[in-house]
Amino acid sequence: MTENEIQKRVSILLVLASYPATMALGFVLYAVLIAAGWSVILASYISLLMGAALITLHEIKLPYREEWKPNVEEISADTVFMITVQVALPYLISISVVILLSEMLRSNGVAMENFWPNDLPVAVQAGLMLLAADFPRYWLHRAFHKFTPMWRFHAVHHSPHRLYWLNVGRFHPIEKAIQYAVDAMPFALLGVSSEVLAAYFVFYGINGFFQHSNCRVHLGPLNYIVSGPELHRWHHSELASESDTNFGNNLIIWDVLFGTRFLPKDREVGSLGLLNRKYPMGFLAQMKTPFISGLEKE
Ligand SMILES: [Zn+2]
Repeated sequence: MTENEIQKRVSILLVLASYPATMALGFVLYAVLIAAGWSVILASYISLLMGAALITLHEIKLPYREEWKPNVEEISADTVFMITVQVALPYLISISVVILLSEMLRSNGVAMENFWPNDLPVAVQAGLMLLAADFPRYWLHRAFHKFTPMWRFHAVHHSPHRLYWLNVGRFHPIEKAIQYAVDAMPFALLGVSSEVLAAYFVFYGINGFFQHSNCRVHLGPLNYIVSGPELHRWHHSELASESDTNFGNNLIIWDVLFGTRFLPKDREVGSLGLLNRKYPMGFLAQMKTPFISGLEKE
């Protein structure tokens, strides 16, 4: 076999197997660490770091678009978004609001734990949570696109002109807090176990990294179940007719059901981002952009 043929086979393998293999490895690592006595938080974060490392290697080895490789300013801003909005903010909400609300409900005699099937296997509960959490999140995402005051916040997420895994974290903190209230807090209040929440988190993280990644992949029939990169690129198109589709966060099932799934077979996505190329891209600037009317337009 010539070197060219080997390269070609490696590329085909990456395109077809990278997503399912990384996801499977993430869960195997998570299970191994839990069995070795690590905490669920640490085990899930280490699994996500491994996922991010493999996705970075894929982006370098086989990018979908050469011109989507990020520059230093983008990486710096996206790192700040990732640490503050995706890690610190949900942590602060969960140790303050969630604990406060659970105590209030308990003192009023509301036993939320009775509403969740805690007896089912962890994997089944995590699958159920994916399906259930994606439903309100799907409608919330559609609302963020439809109503101008909400779009001003969501425009932050649509501002990048190219996709790579780290910009999955680019959300305004107010939007992130609303998302958390809709798709994570109800499950924490329902008393869903930390093992289930962490398993959900491993899927949410690895899928989210892939969804925004610059990896050349072909998910085939999985594109009818998960909201992966081939679908999500269209959601970041600069044309509203294309970006008002594929709203699913983890799964694409609700888009299929409500007629918003979009994956043309005969062409590739064009330019991404907002039509307003003067929209500020820095972290601090984007804390203010939702409060300046007109910026989000076109
Ligand atoms: Zn969107």
